[in-house]
Amino acid sequence: MMPLLLLLGLVSVYPKSLDNEVKAFVEHEFSQVLAVTEYPNYDISVTVENFSFNSSSAVASANGDIKIKPAVVANAMKSKAALWSLRITIAHELGHVMAGHRFTTAARQQKHELDADRRGLEYFKRLRWSCKVWVERRRRAAEQGNVDAEHDREAMYEQAKRLCSEDATRKDIGE
Ligand SMILES: [Zn+2]
Repeated sequence: MMPLLLLLGLVSVYPKSLDNEVKAFVEHEFSQVLAVTEYPNYDISVTVENFSFNSSSAVASANGDIKIKPAVVANAMKSKAALWSLRITIAHELGHVMAGHRFTTAARQQKHELDADRRGLEYFKRLRWSCKVWVERRRRAAEQGNVDAEHDREAMYEQAKRLCSEDATRKDIGE
């Protein structure tokens, strides 16, 4: 039998030249969410770099490669509000990875976005993090309107609201 340590997923952070404090921060934030996903032993590689092909703060591929913009990380290290935004981003992107999502047509992508958000919100619940912050971010995004065909922000807000209130109901009846 393999030692248990080998069964834990590894979060590798790139580029190698990244500041140690930033690297440790990114590793920690990804590891704690990874631990409550469907496949906690998955190896994830995170690259902190700018990319221009997408308006999001992060992108993920099905094989576990995630790119995240440096400003998103830097802000999260300075402010609590930005930290929660980062955590939502991480949970959402890990949702894509766990679902094995690949880039595809806009119509299917939209379904993937909802699926990634549903999974991410579930990770929040498992970590005992409030899903209210998730609903609030999605509400604000919906107010700004859609930026592209892939992200139906109104649908993401409606889903987050529903999943989060289901959780509240469950607590209310003492389950
Ligand atoms: Zn997404």
